[in-house]
Amino acid sequence: MNGKLYLCATPIGNLGDVSPRCLEVFNSVDIIAAEDTRRTLQLLNHFEISKPLTSYHEHNKREKGEYIISLLKNGKNAVLVSDAGTPAISDPGEDLVKLCIENDIDVTSIPGPVAGINALILSGLSTRRFAFEGFLSVNKRHRKEHLESVKNDMRTLIFYEAPHKLKNTLADMENAFGSDRRIALARELTKIHEEVRRCTIGEAVKFYSENNPRGEYVLIIEGAQEIENNEENIWEDISVKDHVNKYIAEGMTSKDAIKKTALDRKLPKRDVYNEYHKE
Ligand code: SAM
Repeated sequence: MNGKLYLCATPIGNLGDVSPRCLEVFNSVDIIAAEDTRRTLQLLNHFEISKPLTSYHEHNKREKGEYIISLLKNGKNAVLVSDAGTPAISDPGEDLVKLCIENDIDVTSIPGPVAGINALILSGLSTRRFAFEGFLSVNKRHRKEHLESVKNDMRTLIFYEAPHKLKNTLADMENAFGSDRRIALARELTKIHEEVRRCTIGEAVKFYSENNPRGEYVLIIEGAQEIENNEENIWEDISVKDHVNKYIAEGMTSKDAIKKTALDRKLPKRDVYNEYHKE
């Protein structure tokens, strides 16, 4: 009979976040496949668990994937852990899961910390709808295309970033999303120096031009819709007549002012025209 693969979430900074079920599974399996064996060994040593470890990462996932599948097919049970957090999120775990499914091998998960979700819930931005964008490419053109492709996305966006790339990333984000879009920069989550900086992208660029980034970051970006909504709310405070007159005072013809007001308020032009000419 085939064995089973357990996807085990491990702490993203605080060892107290490891679940009792995770430790139970570590103790019960035949082998643990880890993205970073040294880091996982520290975790195992801390909990006095001794298990065979094997590495499974971006650069050996093909051969190691086959090897782990062969063990599972021989009835062994295995754990997959990422260097921190939940495996298969921004690491090669998803490839091993696909291989297991292709080979009819059971996969189950032992849930726990995910950096992106922790940052999202601390951001103060909308959690109702969100999109996980992971890491931006190191290739300049691909980064730009990636950011352009999501700049009108109405969902809150979640990005991962390393400290040495943060300044460039913020500059690229300012170009794509504008300076006024809100951002939350979460770093050192669950650690002693946990910090969430909530500001605009422009303010973040300024802050990091004067301060060096430290620790791993999750960047949470306000969705495009929220900005539109804020703009819509501005118009709630003035009448349609005042709205049209504002544009006329700025030099527009009444025809253009009515057209622009209709666009701002997402109303038919005729309704704005009638309202404007009402006694
Ligand atoms: N699988 C992990 C998860 O569940 O979130 C993510 C692995 S990914 C290779 C590593 C990235 O996660 C880091 O570059 C950083 O963006 C984010 N990250 C991990 N730990 C973090 C922490 N304690 N605080 C903030 N971000 C963290």
